[in-house]
Order: sequence, then structure tokens, then C-alpha cells
Amino acid sequence: MPTEVNLTSTGVKNPAGYIEEVLAQVKAKNPAEPEFHQAVQEVLESLRPVLDKHPEYRSARILERMVEPERVIMFRVPWFDDHGNMQINRGFRIQMNNAIGPYKGGLRFHPSVNLGILKFLAFEQVFKNSLTTLPMGGGKGGSDFDPKGKSDNEVMRFCQSFMTELQRHIGADTDVPAGDIGVGGREIGFLFGQYKRLRNEFVGVLTGKGLNWGGSLIRPEATGYGCVYYAQEMLKTRKDSLEGKVCLVSGSGNVAQYTVEKLLDLGAKPVTMSDSNGVIYDPDGIDREKLAWVMELKNVYRGRMSDYVRQFKSAIFVPTDMQMDHNPLWAMKGDCAFPSATQNEINLKDAENLIKNGCKVVSEGANMPSTLPATRLFLEHGLLYGPAKAANCGGVATSGLEMAQNSQRMAWTREEVDKKLHSIMVEVHRNCFETAANYGNPGNLVSGANIAGFLKVANAMMDQGLV
Ligand code: NDP
Repeated sequence: MPTEVNLTSTGVKNPAGYIEEVLAQVKAKNPAEPEFHQAVQEVLESLRPVLDKHPEYRSARILERMVEPERVIMFRVPWFDDHGNMQINRGFRIQMNNAIGPYKGGLRFHPSVNLGILKFLAFEQVFKNSLTTLPMGGGKGGSDFDPKGKSDNEVMRFCQSFMTELQRHIGADTDVPAGDIGVGGREIGFLFGQYKRLRNEFVGVLTGKGLNWGGSLIRPEATGYGCVYYAQEMLKTRKDSLEGKVCLVSGSGNVAQYTVEKLLDLGAKPVTMSDSNGVIYDPDGIDREKLAWVMELKNVYRGRMSDYVRQFKSAIFVPTDMQMDHNPLWAMKGDCAFPSATQNEINLKDAENLIKNGCKVVSEGANMPSTLPATRLFLEHGLLYGPAKAANCGGVATSGLEMAQNSQRMAWTREEVDKKLHSIMVEVHRNCFETAANYGNPGNLVSGANIAGFLKVANAMMDQGLV
């Protein structure tokens, strides 16, 4: 006897449990990818009011389609180190969704990189890029290669080998990678050089390029600046500002450096930075002179934050201790937190510590820096909480502006780009704030960002048929 299957006309077995079913499928089909499960869960849980209001998305199986990458490319990256030894790394590019524009998203070079981490980043990128107001789809890529401790020549040989394979999958109208952890101006230069050599074309296939070969002013600053602009917009809703606020910043790379710079511009007092070896706390504040020193330490000498306390005696250094159940950086006293290092760097205990010490604002520069329990606690306690896909979208938005300049063969001034970045961040905040209210969650910018990002992509997918 045939099994009785209770299908609706669209094939969704249980409309009321649709979200739970999709989530269960994601976990079953993508085992051992906890970061991807986490990112999907956060988004899907926000979408319940949208699906209640618009059952047509359910009928079109939009969620199942969004959680399945359009294409996953995984490849071998062989290269010679300085001693003539062969080294083999793994390269990836996840082309997640191109409903609203070419795939766009960074490349991460870090030993922790794996398929699940890049899928979480690519999934987040789809919604983030949608929020920017610019026509960009979502992707992400990278390698488990660790640039730390490698010579410039080793980094160049690795980048050339990586691009030798990647070049056949990307293009200015197809997929436009950029930087992320471990991929800065140096790496983008080596990658661009090899692409140009292999394809014999000078096009805007990467963003974050050098200023004299197609890069945009303000692109290096954009993620950090944008994250601070977003915090400023959140504070405005409570008639407050960043002036005089004590700020906790984690990380000391691209995002952290320009977060500190913009905080200083707006009269705030940043007191912490970190790297994977530990945290510095400077109660006198990290002023412009100290920031310039950190930038040189990190971008030129590729040194460690522990050196800061030898240079500036007012500061203390707390080394990383993996046995601890919390990060000492988030146990410092501060009004605002700007996590700018990596995913899941704020756990529930860290969130409790921040709240206990009077923190009122969290604006996420890093991608998914807060665990789900930490996120829930921030929302329960009514913090001004700017989730990564909204708060840090200034970086990719400015990459979009770089693409526009490349297409026009034009270069805009610093002021023009900064003005555009600022107005994009204001608009992104307004969109998240109003969408949250329209869907019954006033003040919940997680819900606002997820729903607003989703709607644009989902509507494009509906228009384009079952592809
Ligand atoms: P960088 O490589 O420039 O800097 C990363 C910083 O975070 C370094 O200080 C690094 O320390 C620290 N860090 C990285 N991994 C870990 C870890 N596992 N534990 C502790 N510290 C760690 O990267 P970015 O500044 O570009 O990126 C930082 C975050 O911002 C990432 O989450 C990235 O995805 C996100 N982001 C970046 C954008 C950009 O435009 N660059 C755009 C949007 C988001 P160490 O040197 O010791 O490794």
C-alpha cells in the first residue's frame, strides 16, 4: 500500500512547522557546521511574522532555496615555501545567491577556515548586501592558509596559486571578492596581479584595491567608520550621542583600527583593543598618537598587541587564556561595545558582564560576534543592539561604490565616498528600525535587519522563477 503523504498543493507538508522543518533539514544536510546552523537559525526565527503575512514565500519554497548555496567551489592550493618545501592548502568560494546582483563578499585567510564557517559568512552576506541598497548578491571564500609569520614572498606565491584556480569562477559581472580576516591590501594586490596576468584584462574583479590601480578612497576605513555611524544612529533614537562615551573595541585589524579612528572623531574614548594573544586596556584612552602607533605595529611590522604596554605605560595587557569561560575585554567597564575581531567572541557570560558594567550599546563590526544566547540577552535588556549584517555593511557598501567607480572609469573624492557611506548607514538603520516596527518588534534591529534583507532578495527570487 502506498504511504499516505499529506502534501499541500505546494508540497510543504506542515505549513505551521515550516521554519522548524527547514532548520532541521539544514542541520541534517550540513552536519558539523555549527556556525552555519547558528546563522540560519537566527535569520529563520526572525522571519516567522513575514511568512505569516506572506504565505507565498512558503509556497515558493524560498527558505529551502536560500539555505542552499548556488555553487560551492573547493580546490587545492599548492605552493612552495621559502625553504623550497611543497605546501598544500585548501581554497574555497561559496557563491550563495545572485538574485539581486553579482556574488560579492570577502576572502578570509585563517587556519580556522572551513566549509561551515564560509557558508555562514556567505549566508550572512546575502542579507547584508541586500540591506546596503546596492545591487550585490552574496558570496564568501578563502583558505585555511595562515599569513601570520609568512614572508611577503610566501604570501605572494600562495596568492598566485590561489588565484590560478579562482580566476575561472569570478569576474567583474559574475563574482567580485574582497578582503576579510588575513586578506588586506597586500594580499588583494597579489591576487589582482595574478588575475590580470592570467586573464589579460584590467577590470574591477576585486575590491579593496590600491588607490593608484582602481581602489576607492575610504574603502579601508569603511567597515569601521560605518559601524560607528550605525551606533550613532542607534543612539540618536534615544536622543544620545557618542560624545564622551567609553568604548570597548576588540581586535586590532582593519575593522578595529578604523572603528577607533571614527570614535575619536566623534569625541568618544576607546580604551581596549586585542589580538589572538590577548587584550590591552588603556584607562587613559587610545588617542590618535597611540592609534597611529598601533597601525604601524599591525600594518607594517605585523607585530603583537602585547608590545603596546611596553610603549604606553598607562595600559595593562591580559594574555588570552582559553580555559577562561569569558573574555576579559568584555568585563571592562564601558558604555559601548564594538566587537571587531571574529565570530562568537561574545558568549552569554560576556554579555552578562557587559550589561552588569552598564554597557548600553553593542554595534557589531565583526561577523556574528555574539552567540545566540548573548544576542537574546542584549535584546531582553533593551540594549541598542546593531547586528553585524546591518552595523558592518559599510565595508561591502563601499566595495559597491568601488565597483561603480571602476565601471565608470572614475575616482570619487574622499568626501564624496564618505558622504555616500554615511547616508547608506543612515538609510540602513532607518530601514531596520522601521521594518522591525512594521512587523511587530519595535526596537529589535535583529528582526528588522533580517526581514528587510530577506524581502528584497525573496522578491527578486519570486520574479525570476524557479532557478
Ligand atoms: P583583520 O585580519 O584585519 O583583523 C582581525 C583581527 O581579529 C586581528 O586583530 C586578529 O588577531 C583578531 N582575530 C582574528 N581571529 C581571531 C580569533 N580566532 N581569536 C581572537 N582574535 C582573532 O580582519 P578584519 O578587521 O578585516 O576583520 C575582522 C572582523 O570583521 C571579521 O569578523 C570580518 O569577517 C569582519 N568584517 C570585515 C570587513 C572588512 O571590510 N575587512 C567587512 C565586514 C566584516 P590576530 O592578528 O592575532 O589573528
